[in-house]
Amino acid sequence: MRVAVGGYIAAVNSFVGYRMDLEQHKRAAITGDAVLKIGDSATSGFLDIAKANNWDATPLPFIVPGVWGLVTAEAHEWVKEQFLSGLRNAGRVDGVFLQLHGTSAAEHIDDGEGDLLAAIRGAVGDKVPVIVSLDGHANVSPLMVKSATMLIGVKTNPHYDFVSVGQQGGRVMAGMFAENLRPTSAWAQPDILPSLQKLYIAPGWPMEHLMRVARNLAVSDPRVLDVSLLGGFFCSDSYNTGLSVTVTTNNEPALAQEIAEKMKEACWAKRHSFQVDAVPVAEAVREAIDTDEGLVVLGDLADSGGAGTPGDGTALLAELIKQNAKSAVIGNIADSAAVQEAVKAGIGKQVTLTVGGKTDKAHGDPVQISGRVRVIHDGVFTAATTFNAGTYRRGTTVVVDCGGLEVILTSRPVLVFEPNHFRSLGIEPTQRKIIAAKSELQHRAGFEGVAKKIIDVDTPGLATQDFSRLPFRRIRRPVVPLDSF
Ligand SMILES: [Zn+2]
Repeated sequence: MRVAVGGYIAAVNSFVGYRMDLEQHKRAAITGDAVLKIGDSATSGFLDIAKANNWDATPLPFIVPGVWGLVTAEAHEWVKEQFLSGLRNAGRVDGVFLQLHGTSAAEHIDDGEGDLLAAIRGAVGDKVPVIVSLDGHANVSPLMVKSATMLIGVKTNPHYDFVSVGQQGGRVMAGMFAENLRPTSAWAQPDILPSLQKLYIAPGWPMEHLMRVARNLAVSDPRVLDVSLLGGFFCSDSYNTGLSVTVTTNNEPALAQEIAEKMKEACWAKRHSFQVDAVPVAEAVREAIDTDEGLVVLGDLADSGGAGTPGDGTALLAELIKQNAKSAVIGNIADSAAVQEAVKAGIGKQVTLTVGGKTDKAHGDPVQISGRVRVIHDGVFTAATTFNAGTYRRGTTVVVDCGGLEVILTSRPVLVFEPNHFRSLGIEPTQRKIIAAKSELQHRAGFEGVAKKIIDVDTPGLATQDFSRLPFRRIRRPVVPLDSF
C-alpha cells in the first residue's frame, strides 16, 4: 500500500492586525524525505504503523508557520496548491494521513482546514481514506468532518499524546486496507466558547470530567473507534469556533450521532465552567508582593506567546515598577530592537532601554527600564516538562538586572511555561519571589509544585480571556459566554 503523509500547523489570532504571509509559510515548509523523519508527533506515530505494515510512505508538504495573525489569501492558496501538487506528484495513493492544528483562518476563508481538506478530498476522490490528527484546540467545522474519513483529536492538555493519536490513525487505516473497518463519523457542537485556560485537563477541571465521559463512551461499545473532544481556539474567529466533539464508529452512523449528542449534552451541563476570573493587574501585583514566602507566578493571560499576540505586552512590567516589587522577574518581553541595543552595550554595562508595547496599541505602552546587562544568550534551551517537551529557540535573549527586578528580553514571542526558561539564563525561580509569565495555561502545569501561588492576571491584550472585549464577527450566536443562558 502507498500512503501520503503531510501536515499544516497554523494557529491564527484573527484579532491582531498583522498577517501570516507567504514568506513566513515558505520559510516554515518541510518537504521531501525530511517529512518522513519528523520525530515525536502524530506524523511519526502514523509512520510507525506504516513501517510495521511495510507501506510505501510518500511525503506531502509539512508546513509549520506557527501562531500569528490571519493567513493571507495568497499564502492559503499557496498551501492548498502545495498539497494538491504533492498529491499529483505522488501518483496513485491508497491513503492520506495529515497532521493538522485545526485553527487556521485566512483573509478570505474563515475555515482554513475545511477548505484545505475539501480540496484534498476533491483530488483523491471518495474512496481513498483521509485520516487527520488534530490539536486539542482545533475548531472543527462540518466541512472538515465531511471531507475527512476520520478526525482524531489529542486527549491531553497540555498535549503530550500526539504519537499515540497518529498510531491510532494508522491502525484505523490498516483496518480499512484489510476491509475490516468502514469508519463513519458524526459531529456535534455545543454553543460554548471556552477560555484557553479552562481547557486544562487535570483533576478538578471541567475538561478532565468531560474527557472521562468521552473515554467511557469510547470504550462502552466495540463498534466505537474514537470519541474526540476538541476544546477550540477562541481567538481564531470562525462560525464553528469553540468546543466540539467528533465520534467515529465502524459503519454505525446512528450510533456515532447518538454518542456525539450525548457528549454535547455533557458539555452543555458544564457551560458555566469555562470562563476565567482573572485578577486586575494592580491587585495581582499587590497580592504577590504581600505573599510572605515562596514563589508567586503571575500569568499574563492576554499576551501569551501561544495565542498569536506580539508577546511584548508591558502591563505587568509597568505595575511591578510602580509598586517597587523586589526579587521579581519579567519572564519575557519580545523586543528584538531592545535586545540588539543591550547586546551592543555588552555584558556588565549599564543600559537604559525602552522596551515592549511597540507592535500595536493593545498590549500596553513602551516602558523605560535602566539596569545592567547581566546575560547575553543564544536563546536555545530544553524544556524540562513532559508536555511541550523539546528544544526552544527564543532568538538572542538578554537579562537586564534593574536591581531587584530582572527583565528577560527575547528576540521573538515566547510562551513562558516552565522553570528551564529561567534556569537556562542563570535565574533560579525558587529563589525569586515573583515571576511574570506570558502564558494562558501552561504555566499552571509547568509551575505546579514549584510555585506557592499562581495568580491569573487580567492584563490587556488580544488573547484576553474576557471575551466581551474582543471584536468577534464570525462566530455563531448565541454562544456562551458572549450571550447568556
Ligand atoms: Zn493545542
